[in-house]
Amino acid sequence: MVMGDIATATDLLVIGAGPGGYVAAIRGAQLGVDTTLVEKDAYGGACLNRGCIPSKAFIHGADVAHEAGNAEELGIHADPAVDMSQMQQWKAGVVDQLTSGVEKLCKANGVSLIEGTAAFEDEHTARIAHGGEGQGMETVEFENAIIATGSRPLAIPGFDFADDPVLSSADLLQMESTPDSLVVVGAGYIGMELSTMLAKLGTDVTVVEMLDDVLPAYEDDISRMVRSRAADLGVDFHFGEGATGWTDADDGVVVETETEAGETSAYEGDAVLVAVGRQPVTDTLELESIGLEPNENGFIETDDRARTDAKNIFAVGDAAGEPMLAHKASAEGVVAAEVAAGEPAALDHQAIPAAVFTDPEIATVGMTSEEATAEGFDPVVGEMPLRASGRALTMGESEGFVRIVADESSGVVLGGQLVGPNASELVAEVALAIEMSATLEDVADTVHTHPTLAEAVMEAAENARERAIHTLNR
Ligand code: FAD
Repeated sequence: MVMGDIATATDLLVIGAGPGGYVAAIRGAQLGVDTTLVEKDAYGGACLNRGCIPSKAFIHGADVAHEAGNAEELGIHADPAVDMSQMQQWKAGVVDQLTSGVEKLCKANGVSLIEGTAAFEDEHTARIAHGGEGQGMETVEFENAIIATGSRPLAIPGFDFADDPVLSSADLLQMESTPDSLVVVGAGYIGMELSTMLAKLGTDVTVVEMLDDVLPAYEDDISRMVRSRAADLGVDFHFGEGATGWTDADDGVVVETETEAGETSAYEGDAVLVAVGRQPVTDTLELESIGLEPNENGFIETDDRARTDAKNIFAVGDAAGEPMLAHKASAEGVVAAEVAAGEPAALDHQAIPAAVFTDPEIATVGMTSEEATAEGFDPVVGEMPLRASGRALTMGESEGFVRIVADESSGVVLGGQLVGPNASELVAEVALAIEMSATLEDVADTVHTHPTLAEAVMEAAENARERAIHTLNR
């Protein structure tokens, strides 16, 4: 320790206050463990400040404007003017409310908060550099530590986020006005959510993707619906092309691309958004001082109790591997805190849902039919198209379906794939079914409110049992 440093001691040190870290810290404190949470930037992490919440705020704003301007069929004639700066202020208010809530909840639960950047000195000591010159260092001694340092946007060669026209998702979500045109590199979930949102707000969006379709992690019939709706909104797709670099143009940039066969193309936009994925933040923790080495993708490997190879160090959230989702980070945070407190907790990654807030929304949980077969099940599939759902029709959003996958002999629900309005909400019912080992009969016999989208989950379960009323059976 250097003279003038502060030294503190804590039972549990949590590094990073995103949805993995702040949840772990609160759970630790709830269990009576003396807990310290250190954050270098803003409470709530990427999710609340630069990810889930800001993106969903803008997606909602874009949906309101787009729906209002496209409701002639319902007898509504409107031409909404969008004040992006006002929408940005509204989004900032939502973010502020949530991030200050995180800070208050931590304090109210007795979590000690430190602002600064942590790095390990050894298996029981971390050094924390306080922000700003002359702010000093602090040494924290701990029994257990939870690494929850999250992830940052992945850059690609030729595109440096330090250059003004090269935007990360975080930069884009700070926009005070919508660009007239934008080139988006990457058609994964972040690229597709932001492209769809901007297209609804009137931006000319060009998407360049190295693979041959959007959302490669999803089944073809699902990604096809998202792609074709985005194309209807005016998004111009170029598949099989990798972005190689950009040059300044009169009013923006020209993005150059190349196919595997060496054919080159160029696309103009006001700016370029690089949304090709995220990389874990594990390179700034001096992990070598605790004998840990991230794997080749930068993730810290953990067991089902969130423990790393160092016996008193846990890792959760984006730093600990896929899926890089906020609710997975929080679920791991709870387990890590409970295990650190001596409780018999463990993770079950089977029922972690994933949602993409495109138009239509998509959400999945558990296994697809193909995955169930690969796992040795004999799957049965039931489906309910939303064009047969009264509620979907009354909302004017009848594109999509609910699909449920179960084990044929036992009827136990194994997975679900949902496309359509509020799919991100509806998937919770299928996740609960999987978590409880519920059967198709359990789902089908649960009386659902009419008229709701949730009825489609019940009908899909009935369809798998060849007893659906509102759709033809298999
Ligand atoms: P983070 O949220 O990244 O938090 C890590 C924290 O650690 C940060 O605050 C960081 O400042 C801090 N930190 C890092 N290093 C140090 C250090 N050395 N010392 C102190 N503090 C440190 N997920 C969803 O589930 N649903 C969505 O709809 C969704 N939408 C998204 C949209 C976008 C545009 C983006 C970018 C992401 C989205 N995500 C979404 C992903 C989600 O944001 C992440 O999975 C989630 O934030 C991961 O939580 P975490 O706690 O692991 O890390």
